[in-house]
Amino acid sequence: MLVALTLVHVMEIVVHVVQRILAAAQFAAEKHATQKRKGAAQEPYINHLIEVAHLIAGSSDTLDTELVMAGFLHDTVEDTGVTLAELAQRFGNDVASLVAEVTDDKSLPKEARKALQVKDAPKKSPRAQTLKLADKISNLRSILASPPADWSLKRRREYFDWAKQVVDGLTVPNPRLKAEFDRVYTSFKDSPGI
Ligand code: ZN
Repeated sequence: MLVALTLVHVMEIVVHVVQRILAAAQFAAEKHATQKRKGAAQEPYINHLIEVAHLIAGSSDTLDTELVMAGFLHDTVEDTGVTLAELAQRFGNDVASLVAEVTDDKSLPKEARKALQVKDAPKKSPRAQTLKLADKISNLRSILASPPADWSLKRRREYFDWAKQVVDGLTVPNPRLKAEFDRVYTSFKDSPGI
């Protein structure tokens, strides 16, 4: 069935989409307000969330509104104590289930969580794989640009190799994001002293 959309209707849809994405951005900014990135530059945590959402928005020629929203919200459950039920109530079940797919079980020790990310990567839905990939790109970029002051070269190298293991396990990596991940990974491997 063909539906005739007038320009007014299209603008209403665009305004609605922008409002939903900005509501997710504002919620994330409030919840992460006191958090900083681990890097020496101590960037506000929201910079990471904007970067992830921006990577997702640029990963395709069509807009997946819920996935962009999940980009902003992906660390709220893990890092700020927001519940999946609250996300579902505010932003809908689709956004909440995307966030659930990329949320680690914090009751597990760190090494177990990292191993589980590698093991579980192939089981994620295609959209969660896109989110995961965008998250890893942002994390690697920030370690390249501003590594945590107490991270040795060995620790940085291990982190990059672990991120690559997770990404290599993705069964349907978004091609644009995979190319960007490979570029960032290679630029680390090619940097002096590595
Ligand atoms: Zn993240």
